[in-house]
Amino acid sequence: MAHKSVFDASAVKSEFEVAGINPNFIPIIWKHVLQNPNCMWDEIPSLPVAVYSLLRSKFKPSTSTLHSALDSIDQTTTKLLIKLKNGEFVEAVIMRYDTRLGKYNGKPRPGGLRSTLCISSQVGCKMGCNFCATGSMGFKSNLSSGEILEQLVHATRIASIRNVVFMGMGEPLNNYSAVVEAIRVMTAPPFQLSPKKITISTVGVIHAISKLHRDIPNLNLAVSLHAPVQEIRCQIMPAARAFPLERLMNALRDYQACSQQKIFIEYIMLDGVNDEEQHAHQLGKLLETFEVVVNLIPFNPIGSLSRYKTSDDQKVAIFQIILRGTYNIRTTVRKQMGQDISGACGQLVVNLPGKGLVVNLPGKGSSRSADHITDIEDLRI
Ligand code: SF4
Repeated sequence: MAHKSVFDASAVKSEFEVAGINPNFIPIIWKHVLQNPNCMWDEIPSLPVAVYSLLRSKFKPSTSTLHSALDSIDQTTTKLLIKLKNGEFVEAVIMRYDTRLGKYNGKPRPGGLRSTLCISSQVGCKMGCNFCATGSMGFKSNLSSGEILEQLVHATRIASIRNVVFMGMGEPLNNYSAVVEAIRVMTAPPFQLSPKKITISTVGVIHAISKLHRDIPNLNLAVSLHAPVQEIRCQIMPAARAFPLERLMNALRDYQACSQQKIFIEYIMLDGVNDEEQHAHQLGKLLETFEVVVNLIPFNPIGSLSRYKTSDDQKVAIFQIILRGTYNIRTTVRKQMGQDISGACGQLVVNLPGKGLVVNLPGKGSSRSADHITDIEDLRI
């Protein structure tokens, strides 16, 4: 039998239960693995004898390996390429923000360096959003909860992670049970991230949104709305046909009523498609009765043949002014990070020699691995 990841929480717990072992040893084991990446099970001190033989026969400290880590030129972003045990690859991206930058009341802002990990939940994605590099891969497989957590484990060895966002490859709510299980582990020892520091981003899988708050209270929810009307949504996000806008907004209203939390609305700005003033007014009317923060995302071109163009800065600014000024909706423009390593939104797709399009990055970024780094910048969509 193939060994499972020790971070596959339900598998570990059920094996411990069958063997009659106290589950309180599990976080101790996870902590040791976090601090000693390539440990042998026998090296963990002070466990009951039965635990060592159970771990040896059924589990591995990690089933995935960090294939490479590529830094952006400005060092704000590191893209991790992670090889899963089935031979597939996923990407995770570390983004570093310096909260001291800028001034607050004429003084440097309080705060410091914080790192956010953008995590993948699937290999590829079924949703097929046609502005997204990952969508062009199609769906390959779901990650197990252990494989989701192992991304955090690999990243923790490079940076101190304060926030996790499920905005990498895949639609997290299409892999619901593994994602929920992984978050439950992330919010418990030894990881102990606050649920408020974890964000799930979804295109709007209505039935899953309806149960999310009950399963994990206090989580942040981000909805990739990307259009104020169903017709444009379906044009750019084919999967939206299954999630009519009116029903989605009703589900969000219920979610907000239960959670009492702001919802983040992601809106990718596509030139001439959804970025005109009329769209800003439609979006403002749609959202004015919600507690939301709208995040306008300048589109990252992912190849010279991309059907979409980036909205110019003036259009983005007018869109923001309308939402803020006319509808009093808090609206931000996403800071672009890591474009030179394709680690920005909608750019996560894996290309390796012999596995599809290959683009080298001469002079771009720096690799921590001797492995050959390739990327997606010329990907056709
Ligand atoms: S934007 Fe998200 S949901 Fe849409 S195809 Fe890309 S990864 Fe999937």
